Amino acid sequence: MEDRIRLEELYGRNVFTLSKMKERLPKSVYRNVLEVMQGGGELSRADADVVAKAMKDWAMENGATHYTHWFQPLTGITAEKHDAFVASPDEDGHMVTAFTGKDLIKGEPDASSFPSGGLRSTFEARGYTAWDITSPAFLKEAGTGVTLCIPTAFCSYKGEALDKKTPLLRSMEAINTQALRILRLFGDTEARRVTTSTGAEQEYFLVDKDKALKREDLIFTGRTLFGAPAPKGQEMEDHYFGVIRERVGEFMKDLNVELWKLGVPAKTQHNEVAPAQHELAPIYENANLATDHNQLVMEAMKRVADHHNLRCLLHEKPFAGVNGSGKHNNWSLTADTGENLLDPGDSPERNIRFLLVLSCVLKAVDTHADLLRQSASDVGNDLRLGANEAPPAIVSVFLGEQLEDVVKQLVETGSADSHTEGGVLRTGVSTLPDINKDATDRNRTSPFAFTGNKFEFRMVGSSDSMAGSTTTLNTIVAEAFCDAADRLEKADNFELAVHDLIKENLTEHQRIIFDGNGYSEVWVQEAARRGLPNIPSMIEAAPALTTDKSVRLFEKFGIFTKVELLSREEIIYETYAKTINIEALTMIDMAAKQIIPACMKYERDLANTIIAVKTAGAVFGAEAEKLQHIADKIDEAQEALDALRALEEQAGKIEQEKERAFFYKDRVLPAMAALRSPCDILEQIVDKASWPFPTYEDLMFEV
Ligand code: ADP
Ligand code: MG
Repeated sequence: MEDRIRLEELYGRNVFTLSKMKERLPKSVYRNVLEVMQGGGELSRADADVVAKAMKDWAMENGATHYTHWFQPLTGITAEKHDAFVASPDEDGHMVTAFTGKDLIKGEPDASSFPSGGLRSTFEARGYTAWDITSPAFLKEAGTGVTLCIPTAFCSYKGEALDKKTPLLRSMEAINTQALRILRLFGDTEARRVTTSTGAEQEYFLVDKDKALKREDLIFTGRTLFGAPAPKGQEMEDHYFGVIRERVGEFMKDLNVELWKLGVPAKTQHNEVAPAQHELAPIYENANLATDHNQLVMEAMKRVADHHNLRCLLHEKPFAGVNGSGKHNNWSLTADTGENLLDPGDSPERNIRFLLVLSCVLKAVDTHADLLRQSASDVGNDLRLGANEAPPAIVSVFLGEQLEDVVKQLVETGSADSHTEGGVLRTGVSTLPDINKDATDRNRTSPFAFTGNKFEFRMVGSSDSMAGSTTTLNTIVAEAFCDAADRLEKADNFELAVHDLIKENLTEHQRIIFDGNGYSEVWVQEAARRGLPNIPSMIEAAPALTTDKSVRLFEKFGIFTKVELLSREEIIYETYAKTINIEALTMIDMAAKQIIPACMKYERDLANTIIAVKTAGAVFGAEAEKLQHIADKIDEAQEALDALRALEEQAGKIEQEKERAFFYKDRVLPAMAALRSPCDILEQIVDKASWPFPTYEDLMFEV
């Protein structure tokens, strides 16, 4: 093949990797960089200058003209402001390039237009971006040319986090500290660091760009707001893992090349359940890097789709009636000795340590189910969670038959000694079974499932950042580790104490374990009986951020201050109201200017036909009935449209953010549904040629 892809040559080509630094930096500087990367602290200004020079040289050798501090404000997407590598020309008029250590370390974008939830008023617009040395700089090739991107954190003048990366990094510190305490208790003196790893399975839809551009809803909201179901949906189950169509395959090929160049370990690709839906999964990495990389994946998907005259839809629910898109957050904890704390292992000590870790995760998830639910909420995900497909809105944990059995025995008898063929494991007090890590089955309906050596959090929405859910997971588990370590470090008899603690954690929090069908009504009732929260929407989940329990948790580990939490809650209401507002306005526009006029035209043609035929002497029955039906539905649509307009006007007058958000949820959303319904019926009865924009059929089956 001509354009053969040379994977080894491509991989990481556009990344300023450690090996490139090693090649280009003086030994001592390289050593200092490594030290800061692994142990924290700050690079000296002199060293930063040297690194900046090497970075600039490398970038310019590869065609870069600009650099940018690349950051992740609370809009959920990434932000960048490009600066060219130019300084003022010298006396001879030659261009002088410039990029110093200061440029590398600190940026000062005018921050007033990013969401801050009241943290920063416009007159205090100062925000700072600070170099995140743990995530490598990379070159982005796009329409603007080649740009050196420097991953950064984004903070206010007073040091409050204005982004998603800062709390994530803080939470990784917290869980590192607490997990090391657990390792020490079990005699591990070697491990120096415990890192969160994540792998983000990313679902998405691809549709034809020309068709997408004919729909205002796709342009403005990323999802369809009208649309009758196509004759065929996903009921044949012929798309999942099906043969990838040529056009989509070519997109995937180019996407992989882009990602590999950026050092993103894209690994798995396949068709998903819904027509036109696909998935990409990379190999898991350090959670900070994985979060940055997931942002790059989403960006690259959109960019590459464009090159193929396609549109990539990352919305959680682009089409009603077929599956929506999620992002599974596969989460684990690994020590720098290579040990995965979620791996049951095969020695008794590890087995007990694993059971302690497991019991702590269960405690964390049960205690903070509301926060975990909150961490996976965004506006689009409201259409997905609990809507009979993706995980329900109720948080529960799936352990698999074998582990669940172990837990049950421990809770009931204080010991677990069945299936111990591989040898009885003694804790000194009781016997514990050897855990065979492959014995877990799968349960696709579970929002939080143990899958062998990691947990898979399946609630996260496809367009969301990985940062929020990972930050919450890290923090709640850090707290459970901390509680455990506080107690065990003081224990006279460690073996007894650890046994008691495992039993206590499991007993108190076993209600969070559920292995049945998470989609069923029975589970909704059972969960209510168990007292598990069932929070249906993003704005109902938001208050979880600022409960006393939450403030205590996040302040204890230095993740968020109360002020930061309050600001984030505020942003949620603001974002929600703005998003639904745009959706409602888009519907009004489409119904008023496209759907109703098109239907009226068809109605008139039909009426004229009937008159003509009658005049000619023929008798009509069915056609007249159809005309009446159309007239009724147009009338219904017009009424619903007027009602929606009136509500929109009312919403605009509400000043308080939270009140406005709830008004959108409780009043505007039902009015939008009331407008959609007659329009979707009209789509099914009027002539296809007169329908003003591409239908579900055109979009999902003709890519
Ligand atoms: P599936 O969930 O479909 O079975 P895999 O088990 O292959 O798929 O993994 C899905 C994702 O989980 C991938 O991104 C993979 O890299 C990631 N993953 C695998 N092992 C771990 C781990 N120990 N920690 C974090 N993520 C992991
Ligand atoms: Mg998975």
